[in-house]
Order: sequence, then structure tokens, then C-alpha cells
Amino acid sequence: MNYILMGPPGAGKGTQAKKIVEKFGIVHLSTGDMFREAKKSDEDIRKFLVSGRLVPDEIVVNMVKKRLEKDDIKKGFLLDGFPRTVNQAQELDKMLKSENIKIDAVFFIDVHFEEAVKRISGRRVCSCGASYHVNFIPPKVKGKCDVCNGELIQRSDDKENVVKDRLDVYKKQTSPLIDYYKKTGLFVNIDGLKSESEVFKEIKKYIEAK
Ligand SMILES: [Zn+2]
Repeated sequence: MNYILMGPPGAGKGTQAKKIVEKFGIVHLSTGDMFREAKKSDEDIRKFLVSGRLVPDEIVVNMVKKRLEKDDIKKGFLLDGFPRTVNQAQELDKMLKSENIKIDAVFFIDVHFEEAVKRISGRRVCSCGASYHVNFIPPKVKGKCDVCNGELIQRSDDKENVVKDRLDVYKKQTSPLIDYYKKTGLFVNIDGLKSESEVFKEIKKYIEAK
């Protein structure tokens, strides 16, 4: 059971990843987590992350490669955040081929542009760690945290124009990747406009049918 999970920012990919690895007992291979870990010990990666520049393919690929050498992936895995580009996907294919590992499906949580913008730009957070959404999880008092009564703020990354830029970048990078996986027959489109539990049900149904 080896899967790839893809989806634009705002698609709820993190939540689904957690549900999938819990339900099926497979390993969550998140490049986000790998970066956070590598940042502590790897000076090259730290420099890129601090500067905000895109980490070059070669570094990302090597990081994933090292992770795939660990024994625990034999339980099955869910790749999250990788591959991002066709080049990365081709490198992944090479790695897997040499280890005789197969990918069973590539799940793409599909959310259209306007919906993703609405979901992300509506997020509000409190310094105590609580998070809200102006439409979906509004606080009892507008702009105030239910837990600590603190002032709610919008992360700079979540501002509408920033979100639109992020989504543009995502779209440009991923459209060729989606075509790439469609050709392999592994691509599974999941309607991300449904509720979290319905999205999960769809993914689960697919995995269990295999
Ligand atoms: Zn709070």
C-alpha cells in the first residue's frame, strides 16, 4: 500500500493524510516534516528555508531518497508534498524502480481556485494556538478568541493576494504533474468540495477496493 497525496493549499490535505495513515497503519512521508527535521542538522537546507527560496530538486530528491531507505516504509507509505514537479516524479520513479517498490494510486484532492482562496483567506489564528474561520468556524465574538479572549489575527501567508500567488505557483507546477500521473493510470481525482469525512470516505473506499 503505497500512495501519493496531492492537493492545492486549502484542500485539507493535512487532515486527510492524518486520517489515512491512522486508518491503514502506513507511514506518513511528509516533506514538510522532513524539512523541519533536516533544518536542525543540515546547514544547506536550513539556508534555503530561511531565505524563503525554493529548495532545489536535487536536495529534495536526496532527502526523500534517504527517507525511503528506512525499513519502516515496508508497512506502506503515503507521500505528502512530493513530488511537486515532473522532474521530481521522474526521479521518484527511478528510486522506486531500483527498490522494486510500486505506487498504488495518486490521490488528488481537487478544489477549485475560488474555493481554495475562500478557505485560506478566511482563516484566523490566536497566539494561544486556537484557530478559526470567519465562515466555517467563527469565534463567538468577532475577532476574539473563544479560549483566551485574545485578538485574532490573519497570518500574512493567508492574505488573499498572497494566497492567489501561492495557488498560481501551485497550478503552474502541478498541471504537468497531473498529466504525468494521468498517463500512468494511477491518478484518482477526489472531489475536495465535499466535507472532510466524505472526502476521507471516498479515499478509503478506493483503498479498500484494491
Ligand atoms: Zn486564544
